[in-house]
Amino acid sequence: MSVLRLAIPSPLRRHFDYLAPIGMSNAALVGLRPGIRLRVPFGRREVTGYLLAVVENTDVPLNSLKHALEILDEAPLIDPQLLHLCGWAADYYHHPHGDVFGTLFPKRLREGKPQQPQGTLMWQLTALGKSLPEAALPRSPRQAQAISLLMQHAVIKNTVFKDHGISASVLRSLEGKKLIQSHIQSERSHLFKVNHHITLNPEQHAALDAVAGAGKGFSCHLLEGVTGSGKTEIYLRLIEDCLQQGRQALILVPEIGLTPQTLARFEQRFEATIAVLHSGLSDAQRYQAWEAARAGNAHIVIGTRSAVFTPLASPGLIIVDEEHDGSYKQQDGFRYSARDVAVKRAQIQSMPILLGSATPSLESIHNVVTARYQHHQLTHRASSGGMPQIKVLDVRRQELRAGLSNELLDAIQEKLQLGQQTLLFLNRRGFAPTLQCHDCGWIAECSACDARLTVHRRRGRLRCHHCGYSRMLPRQCPQCNSERLMTAGLGTEQTEDFLRTHFKQWATYRVDSDSMQSKGSMQALAEDINRGEPCILLGTQMLTKGHHFPRVSLVAVIDADALLFSTDFRGEERMAQLLTQVAGRAGRADISGKVLLQTHYPDHPALLAMLTTSYAEQARVLLKQRQASGMPPAGQLIVLRTDCPDAEYGEQFLQQLRQHGTPYLPDGARLIGPLPSPMQRRAGKYRCQLLLTAPTRGAVQAAARILVANAEALPARHGLKWSIDIDPQNVF
Ligand code: ADP
Ligand code: ZN
Ligand code: ZN
Repeated sequence: MSVLRLAIPSPLRRHFDYLAPIGMSNAALVGLRPGIRLRVPFGRREVTGYLLAVVENTDVPLNSLKHALEILDEAPLIDPQLLHLCGWAADYYHHPHGDVFGTLFPKRLREGKPQQPQGTLMWQLTALGKSLPEAALPRSPRQAQAISLLMQHAVIKNTVFKDHGISASVLRSLEGKKLIQSHIQSERSHLFKVNHHITLNPEQHAALDAVAGAGKGFSCHLLEGVTGSGKTEIYLRLIEDCLQQGRQALILVPEIGLTPQTLARFEQRFEATIAVLHSGLSDAQRYQAWEAARAGNAHIVIGTRSAVFTPLASPGLIIVDEEHDGSYKQQDGFRYSARDVAVKRAQIQSMPILLGSATPSLESIHNVVTARYQHHQLTHRASSGGMPQIKVLDVRRQELRAGLSNELLDAIQEKLQLGQQTLLFLNRRGFAPTLQCHDCGWIAECSACDARLTVHRRRGRLRCHHCGYSRMLPRQCPQCNSERLMTAGLGTEQTEDFLRTHFKQWATYRVDSDSMQSKGSMQALAEDINRGEPCILLGTQMLTKGHHFPRVSLVAVIDADALLFSTDFRGEERMAQLLTQVAGRAGRADISGKVLLQTHYPDHPALLAMLTTSYAEQARVLLKQRQASGMPPAGQLIVLRTDCPDAEYGEQFLQQLRQHGTPYLPDGARLIGPLPSPMQRRAGKYRCQLLLTAPTRGAVQAAARILVANAEALPARHGLKWSIDIDPQNVF
C-alpha cells in the first residue's frame, strides 16, 4: 500500500507519512505529483503539508498513520527543479523541509488557500444562455440586462458589468442557472521594449562578451568592478539578452539596496513587466508578484533574499548585486545564504549566474582562485571623476566637536561653499550610547541583556538596540537620586544637532533606521539630495549601500576606530568592504571625490592598507590568512548555538553534544567550545556556542549530521532552544 510522504511546517527535521484521503483509490494516489499541497491533521491542528513523494514503505505502523484530509492542488505550483532546490537547501542547512517550503510559498498558499488565477475574469453565455428567448427573466431586470449585454458582445470583462451596475451576485445566480460561464484570460505578454543605451567602454565590453559568450547553460561569473565602474550597465545588457530569448531574469539585491533609485533604473531601461519582491509588501502584493513570476507574466523579477526561491516559468538568468552583502544570509530560523542558494539554483536550472560587487566576499574570490567561477574585472570608473583620494585624519589631541575635528569641519565648509555635498558616516544611531550618573557612576543598562541602553534624546527615551526594550529617559539617578546625569559617546542625533547649528545656512539630513521609519522617506530624501543643492548627509550603514548621489564630493568616516577592533574572523574583511563602499560614495559623477577617515590610530595596518592598496589586493592578502588559519572560505565552519533562560543548561547541552559526537567525527573535523557568546545574555536568554570546523564540505556536513541527530535526541529542558548555522556570518 502506498503512503504519502510529506514535509510539514514543524521544527522537527523529518518527514511525516500519511494515508490517502478517505475514499481516494491507490491508483489515484500513485498519480499524485511531488510539490502539491495537502491539508492534514497534525497534533491537534490542521496544517498545510507538501508532498515529497508517494512511497511504498513506511517505518510507522500502518494503523497509527492518519489520513490526509484534502488534496489542495491538482498539479504542483512549483516545478521539479525548484522542488529539488528546496530539498537541497533543507539538507545542506539542516533545516526542516516544511519550513523551507514556508520560505518559498506566499502566506496565502501556506495557509492552504486556493491559488488565485492570474489574469482577467471574462464572462460569456452558455449554449443554454444563447438559446434564451428575448425578454426572458422579466422579474429580474439586472439579470436580463446582463444577458442582453452578453448577447451584444459575446465575451465581456468582469469589470464591465460593474460599470453597468451589475453586481457579482447577479452574475453568480446566472451562473447557477447555467446561463453564463466564466474563464480567466491570461495577461501573458512577451512584448517588451528597451529604451536608450549607453555606449560601453572597452572593459565593460570585454566583461559582457565573456559572460554572454559562456552560453545559455550553467556558468557562474564574478563581476568585480570598483564602485561606479558601470556594473549595473552590464546587468542591464545581460537582462536584455535574456528577455530577447523569451526568458525571465531574476535579480537579487540586498535588503537595503532595493531603493526606489535602483528600481527606477530598471523601469527606465525596460518597458516590461517587473515583479518586485521585498519585505515591505503586503501579503496580497507579494502573492501577486509571486504569481506573475510563476506564470511567466513578469519578464524581470527583482527582490531581496527570499526572492531567490521565486518560481519562474522560463528562467534564463540570475544576477546577485552586491554579492558580499551580509543581508543575503538569514540570521534566524532558516539560516540560508541567498547568494549560495542562487548559485545552486542556476546549476539545477541550467542557466548563467552573475555575482557583482566592488568588494567581493572572500568566498567568491576563493571560488575564482579555484576556477569554479569565471572572473571579470572593471578597474576604473565609468564617469570622468576618477577614484576618490583617501586621507587618514589623525585626531589625537585634536579638539572634537560632536566627534568632528576642525580639519573635517573646514573641509565640509569648503565643499558647501563650492555648492557640493558631503556624506558623513557614523554607525551609531541615537544621541549617545551611554547614560551615566556623574555623582555615583551608575550606568543605564538593559535588564534583559548584557548591554547598555542608548539615549534617544529626540524622543526622550532610553532604548536597548538588542532586544527592543525602551523606557522614559530618567531625570534622576535611580541609585543616588542625583540629577547630574550625563551622556558619553556619540550617536547620529548628537552630531546632527551640532551640524544644524554649526552649518545653519545649509541643510543637514540624518539617515538611520530611526529617521527613515516611514514608507517612502528614503525615496523623498533621495529626490531632495539629487536636486543637487549643497547639503550634509549624516548616516549609518543605511546611507552607504547602493545609493547613487552624484553631487557628493566629500565623504568622511567620523569614527573609523569603531571599525578597527572587531574580534570576529570576518572583521577585517567587513571593515575593508565597508570603508571601500563608504569611500565609493564620493565623486560618483564628474566631480572628483575626497575621503577622510578620522582615527586615533593613524598607523593601524588596516587603515594604511586603505591608502596604499585596492580592495582587490587587500582581499587576496586576507584570503591567504584564512588559508593559514583554516577558516572559511579555506576551511568549513558551522556553529551550533543555544539560547536558554537558564544560565547553565545551554552550556551543558552543548557539552553533551561534544561528548557524544567526538568519537564519531570524520577525519579533520574539530569541535571548539562550548563557549559563552560575547554578549552572553540577550533578551533574557543566555547564549552559548559550539564551533565545528573541517577542511572539506563533505567532512563538515557529515559531522553536522551527527551533531544534529544527537541534539534532536537530547531533552531540551529549561526552555532551551538550539540552532545550527551553516557558513555563519559571525561567530563572535
Ligand atoms: P556600479 O553599478 O558599478 O556602481 P553604475 O552602473 O551605477 O556603476 O555606473 C555609475 C555611473 O556611470 C552611472 O551614472 C552610469 O549611468 C554611468 N555609466 C555606466 N557605464 C557608462 C558608460 N559606458 N559610459 C558612460 N557612463 C556610464
Ligand atoms: Zn547616581
Ligand atoms: Zn536589551
